Amino acid sequence: MNGVYMADKLKILVVEDNVMNKILVKEVLTLNGYEIIEAKTGTEALKVFVTVRPDLVLMDIQLPEMDGVTAMRVIKSDKKNKKIPVIALTASAMKGEEEKILNAGFDGYIAKPIDTKKLVELVGTCLKGK
Ligand code: MN
Repeated sequence: MNGVYMADKLKILVVEDNVMNKILVKEVLTLNGYEIIEAKTGTEALKVFVTVRPDLVLMDIQLPEMDGVTAMRVIKSDKKNKKIPVIALTASAMKGEEEKILNAGFDGYIAKPIDTKKLVELVGTCLKGK
């Protein structure tokens, strides 16, 4: 049983409906020692969140069924989740919308196309001390 090692990994829930972005994010974060759990829609994200209790969430904004802003708000509306960082993945079409993203309640954002170095740095900063 390698359960001891696995238990040490921080869990990141990646909510992304774009396959290429999902593969990229998963590969980079796995290489950096995180355990990745995936969801493709906002509603699926909420279900998985409750089951997995991730240490951090990476949330695409444009998602089927329920958008990322709404899903983040549902998560943050429960006060025991407030300290779990939720980082937005924003499309380039949303340039200049960063302030809105942060005002909406996200703990940070990564613009697409994803700069993997920035992604790893931001995730590391948000999980500092964990
Ligand atoms: Mn999307």
